[in-house]
Amino acid sequence: MVYKMKHLLVTITIIMFTCFFFPPITGFASETALNNDYVKIGLKYGSSSVQNCTLKSSAGFMLGIADDRRFVEGMPLPAYTKLIVANENGVITARDEEGVMLSADLGSRGCIMPADYEEGGVIYYENTPYRGGIILLPNPDGTITVTNYLSLEHYVYGVLNSEMGYTNPEEALKAQAVAARSFGESSIGKHSKAGFDMCPSTCCQVYRGYSGEYPSIIRAVDETRGEMIYYDNTPITAYYFKNSGGYTQNIEDIWSSPMPYLKAVEDEYSPSYPWSASLSFDMIQTKLEAAEFQPGTIESVEINERNMTGAVSELKIKGSKAIIYLKKEKIRNILGPTIIKSLKFELKGSDSDENSSDVTISNGLFAAKPGQNTYIITGNGTIREIGSDSLHIFNGINTLKLNNILSTQMSTDGSANFNGYGYGHGVGMPQDSAIEMSKQGFTYDEILRYFYTDIEIR
Ligand SMILES: [Zn+2]
Repeated sequence: MVYKMKHLLVTITIIMFTCFFFPPITGFASETALNNDYVKIGLKYGSSSVQNCTLKSSAGFMLGIADDRRFVEGMPLPAYTKLIVANENGVITARDEEGVMLSADLGSRGCIMPADYEEGGVIYYENTPYRGGIILLPNPDGTITVTNYLSLEHYVYGVLNSEMGYTNPEEALKAQAVAARSFGESSIGKHSKAGFDMCPSTCCQVYRGYSGEYPSIIRAVDETRGEMIYYDNTPITAYYFKNSGGYTQNIEDIWSSPMPYLKAVEDEYSPSYPWSASLSFDMIQTKLEAAEFQPGTIESVEINERNMTGAVSELKIKGSKAIIYLKKEKIRNILGPTIIKSLKFELKGSDSDENSSDVTISNGLFAAKPGQNTYIITGNGTIREIGSDSLHIFNGINTLKLNNILSTQMSTDGSANFNGYGYGHGVGMPQDSAIEMSKQGFTYDEILRYFYTDIEIR
């Protein structure tokens, strides 16, 4: 016993000395850190869960476990190029093409990698190629949830083209890569109840796997390898969207809680993106009912409130049974985010000539329309008449011209015609502006700093 203790002590001492005198080589250490960044992306889950599936790899397979955002190698299967996976009585089995059992239970953390996963090999899930490996979880109903397990860098390879397009200029792609990587890192565990981190759709980020990779995309990811956007030493939820229409949005004006790095920014690089849409009152009623409102027959649609950037923050819809107030992003979610492309819109009835489209100034008690004997009294007593054309709001940082955007508008004649600018929720980086800034010579970090407030990039 004493001998054993002594032996242990010697061993510990040797380990300590080894660590002390031979610190890890820097390159090796950073390599290890970057490999410790695996993410789980749901491929088939919920109603799309599968009964069984086929995995292929020309280099053979490596069975192992997904552990602490790493892959730990277990049993190599170099002689097999095709595996049939099934849920058999609540456990995941793997058989070869002839039906011979290779694993009777892959286990809850089991992961199947292509044998050459470290040399850029891919695994085919039902003929679609993916980097990293595949995790298969048995569901109580006998189906399988299929998840792709891969490094964050490889995940960003598969996201970038579907979120921005590989033909875009390099600095814009690099900005998008850093944003997508930060967004991915901050979304770890978002779908943990379903057994993975992120889904492959717009709910998280659109991910297409290896099929979505292009040389320009790989270059943009590699040139920003590991770089993320931080606030307070934490990777940020780097929201992005297509076009700002000239102003991005405070996150609290779109969803709920404020975030110090997601503030409204006046966007001088936004290419113009006009849109228009028409919704009949019948259609609006159907959409409201689908969202479990009971408005009855719609009688009027009115812009009730705008935020400081001019975006609509409340839409008032009067029906025969109830008045419905749609606030913030609910307006787009309920009426259709591809129909109402942004919250920066005007509203006109189908006979667009006569509408009350004047600016109204209100102090909470009284309202007045500029141009109708409205005056401003400055601090030193100067009185000046104002019209809607010359009305600006200044919050100490930004000035906003209010003509044409702060109108009270209502439709009463059976349909609502929307005319707006921009596309998307408006929070974070507008991709069109990132592309424009890139064309004008800005670097990816300058682009990111313009749209995300008080951030660090490293
Ligand atoms: Zn999602």
